[in-house]
Amino acid sequence: MLPTHLSRRTVAALASLATAAAAAVTLTVAATPSSAAADCSGGYVGLTYDDGPNAGTTTALLNALTSAGLRATFFNIGQRVQQNAALGRAQVTAGMWVANHSWTHPHLPQMTSQQITSELTQTQQAIQQATGQTPRLFRPPYGETNATIRSIEAQLGLTEVLWDVDSQDWNGASTSAIVQAAGRLQNGQVILMHDGYQTTVQAVPQIASNLASRNMCAGMISTATGRAVAPDGSTPTTPPTSRPPTTPPTSAPPTSAPPTTPPPGGGACRVGYTVNAWNTGLTASISITNTSTAAVNGWTLAFTLPSGQTITSGWNAAYSPTSGQVSARNASYNGSIAPNASVGVGFQATHTGDTGRPTSFTLNGTSCTIA
Ligand code: ZN
Repeated sequence: MLPTHLSRRTVAALASLATAAAAAVTLTVAATPSSAAADCSGGYVGLTYDDGPNAGTTTALLNALTSAGLRATFFNIGQRVQQNAALGRAQVTAGMWVANHSWTHPHLPQMTSQQITSELTQTQQAIQQATGQTPRLFRPPYGETNATIRSIEAQLGLTEVLWDVDSQDWNGASTSAIVQAAGRLQNGQVILMHDGYQTTVQAVPQIASNLASRNMCAGMISTATGRAVAPDGSTPTTPPTSRPPTTPPTSAPPTSAPPTTPPPGGGACRVGYTVNAWNTGLTASISITNTSTAAVNGWTLAFTLPSGQTITSGWNAAYSPTSGQVSARNASYNGSIAPNASVGVGFQATHTGDTGRPTSFTLNGTSCTIA
């Protein structure tokens, strides 16, 4: 894919395809020469969207991002996640990172330690319940922080993330002004945007084009540094730097089951599969729900891609081979799926006309229902 895409760089969709391919986490085949991906030679930036989820904008924003091959970090308001749990799940299913932006969006420096702790912990719980993922990043509302707030963040294992560039979307900035703001991002920097404005949604395709023109890619925000880095799997999406909530060592069932092998026939599963396609490519967002009563520890989702579809990059799973009968294997950080919990994975692919989805899925050999 590398030789052909270079001759078509002006096509935004392909440029973003290259962007996503460069950000590929675990793609088995294309991970060789193309991953070096000259396309990310300019570095990584952190796209962030605050104050969601919102019934009026989150779905459109996620569609715009996945269509453009971009991934972003969503700093969610806890009570909005509680009210719109499906939208919180949709963020994860679309390959986005979910983070904490307080429960009610207050001025935290005016609150007591107890109130601040409540704001943060309630949000952690709501996001965990809605998405199965425990946030590791926190952005204080209005960027207002102090030593007390930072201490509470630290106790909860949260890394504080502010921003380098303010898009001013909250202040009435036009779509072109938002695009221009993103154009100022340098390697490692983070831009403040919001889930709540049509201008912000409409800026997504041009932000993708701008980044591609500068050989830059949308990355994840490091829990270690708060800076944008490659989503390379070495610092996974919701990971557990100190107390891994979902890795096998702490969540393996107290049975004699081997940690990486599910009980035979013990799994029942449900798969959601959403395709966003354009003329030559598509993204597929897959949610895998464990509908059994036992935890799954270590999983492989098997499916057959429609003819002509070839995976070029993926997230949250390793895909092999890239066409035909494909196996998607868990990443190091999402191998455990508790009963009733879900994981979100996905990939970008090229196609030759058939943008359909697989007709069946098996998880560790057990047939899944399709949502
Ligand atoms: Zn906010």
